[in-house]
Amino acid sequence: MTSNPLQQFFRQPSVYLRLPTKGKWYTSEIVETTADNELAVYPLSAMNDIMLNTPDAMLNGQALENVIKDCAPGIKDVKRFLLPDVEALFLAIKSASNGGKIDIDRKCPKCEADNTYELNCSYLLDSSTFLNEDDLTTQFSDELVIHVRPYDFEMRQLFLKREFEEEKTFRNINAQGDAIDDITKAKLMAESIERLSKLTFSLVSRSIEKIVILKQNVTVTDREHINEWLVGISKAQAEIVMEAVDKINKIGIPKTLTAQCTSCGHSWEDALSFDPASFFGKRSLQGMAS
Ligand SMILES: [Zn+2]
Repeated sequence: MTSNPLQQFFRQPSVYLRLPTKGKWYTSEIVETTADNELAVYPLSAMNDIMLNTPDAMLNGQALENVIKDCAPGIKDVKRFLLPDVEALFLAIKSASNGGKIDIDRKCPKCEADNTYELNCSYLLDSSTFLNEDDLTTQFSDELVIHVRPYDFEMRQLFLKREFEEEKTFRNINAQGDAIDDITKAKLMAESIERLSKLTFSLVSRSIEKIVILKQNVTVTDREHINEWLVGISKAQAEIVMEAVDKINKIGIPKTLTAQCTSCGHSWEDALSFDPASFFGKRSLQGMAS
């Protein structure tokens, strides 16, 4: 086999990403970083761009997985790559590919004028937060310490897929209009919400690494035991655990931006979404708040 003399002209990494999780949960089978603990990020190829603009391909997690592997070959196991790093990576790929600028469209909630903002990806990446020791645990009085970790790519895809399905269920119920009565409608919607809540619950459970019983100095890592505990605690306690998981998932790039209307001057906080289906595609981000 002869080596390809064109190889020297292949695309090169143009961004080096510092991972918001600082690589805390990664082995070299999951992610290989540079000596400086950064991830090399390559710009999108023409083929990647086509994939990202094909909605059917994007619904299938495999297509997105391939694009990620292609743009960040240091990631060996995309399914285990963690959510804060996934979102920072999307931004880094965009930064590597588009001269680092993204346009987002927002309708002013006050006067309904359309506004377009140009965001600078490297500025957003520079505003990233990084994993802190306090993000890792939450405590129930002096009895239990719960250790949490972020969702991984596989969990993210599962959630997005199910959320998409339930949104479709909602639309179908609404589209039936008077064909079904209000009580049946309410029942179907409640079932849909329950399915999503159950999924969230199981994802939160998977985000608990271990629980330490302080007084006995016992560490529980058994999945079944942790699940049973999560189902058995009070709603208020479960909410504390969910908040801790939500907080650790939200480290990294900013999740909101302050927008100001160019017509009436009104300013408001708006969600920034980095869902690749909308983020990379031609469609606007409007209404994609996560
Ligand atoms: Zn306005």
